[in-house]
Amino acid sequence: MAALLSLRDANVTYCNKQKRVYAAKHIDLDLEEGSSLGIVGESGSGKSTLAMALLRLLPEKSTEISGEALFEGKNLFTLPLEEYRQLRWKEIAAVFQKSMNSLSPVHRIREQISDIYQIHELKALPAEIEERTKDLFSMVNLNPRVYNLYPHELSGGMLQRVSIAMSLLFNPKLLILDEATTALDVVTQGQILKEIVALEGQFRMSRIMITHDMSVVSKSCAYVAVMYAGELMEWGLTAKVLVSPHHPYTQGLLASFPDLKSESKALKSIPGFIPDLSLIYPGCVFAERCPSKMEKCQTQKPRMHTLEGGKVACHLYEVDHE
Ligand code: ATP
Ligand code: SF4
Ligand code: MG
Repeated sequence: MAALLSLRDANVTYCNKQKRVYAAKHIDLDLEEGSSLGIVGESGSGKSTLAMALLRLLPEKSTEISGEALFEGKNLFTLPLEEYRQLRWKEIAAVFQKSMNSLSPVHRIREQISDIYQIHELKALPAEIEERTKDLFSMVNLNPRVYNLYPHELSGGMLQRVSIAMSLLFNPKLLILDEATTALDVVTQGQILKEIVALEGQFRMSRIMITHDMSVVSKSCAYVAVMYAGELMEWGLTAKVLVSPHHPYTQGLLASFPDLKSESKALKSIPGFIPDLSLIYPGCVFAERCPSKMEKCQTQKPRMHTLEGGKVACHLYEVDHE
């Protein structure tokens, strides 16, 4: 299957006056057409940074981005902004936890949706836009009357669902959800994920799902990437990684999350904190907190080792012939 998106040595650095923050480092990932990738990792591990870089939403003046994000052969990191705008909504759509804040308070939902629709489909008729939107509203469990309301007449959860519906207006090839369903009630979240997964089958849509909720990854993502301190620790088939994680960080992360099958497990958090991302670490970034660390972990950066159904960046998986 062809990759829709390939990240090659993707790096994102925030450059403030006093310091540089290396928020995403040497990320290599592929996402196939019609597939889904969950990105997990503690707060501050660089998940949103990566998404914002892919979406060209980071300020150019204060961020340095290098490497490649190939989307159908085009490098999203360097594509002229004018060309990128043609892809937005139509080919690549995104929803963030607070996407509803970007809705204008003085225009009805229907006007805002029509504006976006007509940027890409100049000739679209109001009835066509309304029908399309109401179909999507029913998918996200929203009453069709919402179409004619102002944002202030809706609750936060309803507005978030409007944003999710808007992201699907054009059946994008790539949908990026960054904690987009987190604030919704469990039933609505479940329904929306089910519908989105169905769209992946129907339209070959691909999805990147950033979440803290392992059960969401388990239920809706074919693959999972585990990030820590801006680096990729482990990647693989969700069914493998969540059941038998290889990386000590993934193991720790899963031990701190209620059991996916039963809630009875005693939770253990990983002692310590994410390291200062303004420093460069010669060895493994997880070494300070790793229960399995060896001497070389402090001084040598682990390579990415390929395993059945995935890959892992850890010295424990080195084999002699490598
Ligand atoms: P969360 O789960 O809390 O959303 P995250 O994995 O999405 O976390 P990011 O928001 O990508 O993490 O942040 C990664 C790192 O980059 C953090 O150390 C954060 O402090 C830093 N960072 C984010 N935005 C900026 C900025 N504008 N300037 C400097 N550092 C930043
Ligand atoms: Fe732990 Fe070393 Fe593996 Fe890093 S490389 S996760 S410190 S064992
Ligand atoms: Mg984030």
